[in-house]
Amino acid sequence: IAEGGEQSEEPLKLSSEIMSGDLSTAPKKVDLLIVGAGLSGAVIAERCSKELGMTSLIIDVRDHIGGNCYDYVDSHGIRASKYGAHLFHTKYERVWDYVTQFSKWMPFDHRVKGMVEDKDGVKKLVPIPPVQETVNVLFGESIDSEEKMAAWYEAERVPPPNGEPANGEEAALSRVGSRLYERIFKHYTKKQWDKYPAELDASVLMRLPCRTSTDDRYFGDEWQALPVHGYTRIFENMLLQDPNISIRLNCDFFKARAANQLPEYGMLVYTGPIDSYFAQQGMPRLEYRSLRFVEEWIEEPPDGFFQEAMVVNHPAADTEFTRIVEYKHIPNQPDAVKQGKVKGTLIAKEISSAEGDPYYPVPNPDNRALYERYRELAEKEEGVCFVGRLASYKYFNMDQAILNALEIYDNLKETGKLAPKR
Ligand code: UDP
Repeated sequence: IAEGGEQSEEPLKLSSEIMSGDLSTAPKKVDLLIVGAGLSGAVIAERCSKELGMTSLIIDVRDHIGGNCYDYVDSHGIRASKYGAHLFHTKYERVWDYVTQFSKWMPFDHRVKGMVEDKDGVKKLVPIPPVQETVNVLFGESIDSEEKMAAWYEAERVPPPNGEPANGEEAALSRVGSRLYERIFKHYTKKQWDKYPAELDASVLMRLPCRTSTDDRYFGDEWQALPVHGYTRIFENMLLQDPNISIRLNCDFFKARAANQLPEYGMLVYTGPIDSYFAQQGMPRLEYRSLRFVEEWIEEPPDGFFQEAMVVNHPAADTEFTRIVEYKHIPNQPDAVKQGKVKGTLIAKEISSAEGDPYYPVPNPDNRALYERYRELAEKEEGVCFVGRLASYKYFNMDQAILNALEIYDNLKETGKLAPKR
């Protein structure tokens, strides 16, 4: 594993061949052609090479590897994420064992604060997900035990009319009641999805725990950690040293296919949006949400920081952004930042939009039904394997994306579909 020290903290400079997008210099025959250099594509390429000795050519339309996990060191020396903060957490030992092969990790429990209106309409910084302190600060309570907190929820909660919550609004109301729902969930969700919680699956709002305790961590999983040298280094360690794996960036699969530039391959592993793959079928397109990041460099923040936490959510309707990330709080920063030598701070305001690269599938019954039609097409598509968040239209976290790719790999191997054909 390249662990830095002798290397800089920045992503490795990739060869001009990799960056060129030129398939004429890539292998003419591979076992796997993989579209997308994100988690799913990287896991399949790595497993197929290490366990089966298979060759892959990974192509990606972007100019870097790592998909939405890509991070880099900005001009001020701060490690930042190009596509929003990524916090790794998992309850799957298999995933933890897998990712620790490619990086050293440092334990990190992610904690989020929210700028939320209290009962008098004054904005207060409180823990999210809601814990005892959240309720005490917002509503002037003095809850100091799990029993009292459970009783508070019990008095607030609105049971779902049909037993099980049918959508995000019923899910949130049944857990926290209308006062917290209005303040923390309703408008944040509208800003994030351009839909109110009632228009989304219950699962979206159930992503957040809701606790009776004082445990204010964002996630409850056993393993929560940061890669010591950032996420990009993981992809470098997975892919770049392996002679079985070739990469071409700045390379558009659809254009290359139309121009007959693709190599001969045994199987196509497609990790892009499934509706782009089947665009010629004339079906309605799937709905995805994108994010825009408005970055600001603050030269002289008081005490070195802009805000109290790495992530501050802004769930009220009066801002366009949903949250502000301040990277300096993250402990896997380069040494100069950790030693206090970087005085300024970089923040990114996250604004959700329908335009731009697809980030999130939008989980609701209409989109699920439409995705099912795409899935039927995908099942009939010989020699193509659809993997990942965009191709399987699932709101995967990083660990779920890794587990899914590992399981798809297992399945292909067991059914004999993976065998070197070179
Ligand atoms: N959510 C909310 N208020 C918050 C945080 C989350 O309403 O302060 C809802 C919102 O609908 C959001 C969902 O919970 O999209 C999932 O939040 P999470 O932080 O998991 O979103 P991600 O980090 O994947 O964007």
